[in-house]
Amino acid sequence: MSSTYLIALGSNRAHHLYGRPEGVVRAAMEEVAALGTVAARSNVAQTPPLGPAQRRFANAALVLESELAPPSLLAALKRMEREFGRRSAQRWGDRVLDLDIILWSGGRWESGGRLHALTIPHAEFRNRAFVLGPASAIARDWRDPQSGLSLAQCNARLTRARALPR
Ligand code: AMP
Repeated sequence: MSSTYLIALGSNRAHHLYGRPEGVVRAAMEEVAALGTVAARSNVAQTPPLGPAQRRFANAALVLESELAPPSLLAALKRMEREFGRRSAQRWGDRVLDLDIILWSGGRWESGGRLHALTIPHAEFRNRAFVLGPASAIARDWRDPQSGLSLAQCNARLTRARALPR
């Protein structure tokens, strides 16, 4: 049975073949597409550096239909990150490629896994403009099963929260 996934992509390091982060994200979108059928893909957005990371990020999202179950998809994405040369142990450090499963058609998922723990919805996505921007552009009506809000609403809420004076 095929499932639908919302996947977020990010990069803030150059790659020897694909060039700047934008090129890395475009190349990664092609590789992720090979894991199923792409139903929608966002533009590649530029995001200022976060935390200790020094360079600009490129971010994008895509909707993938795939026969893979969540742990198999995660394993394939982690393999791809390794192939692209991710080497940082730092949580917000520089990284060639970061791939996250944000939502899937099955609602919630929680598993330990031999190699990788997996939680869907992704634990942090509601606080990340660089995920919600591209994600709401391609799947605005997809609802977060936890809050019941659509991605467009999640994005509006985050954007408004940021605009408030502190
Ligand atoms: P990261 O924060 O991208 O470096 O991911 C660190 C770990 O988060 C991975 O090794 C995964 O096992 C785990 N993880 C948990 N939930 C997810 C998810 N929804 N998508 C991607 N990685 C996840």
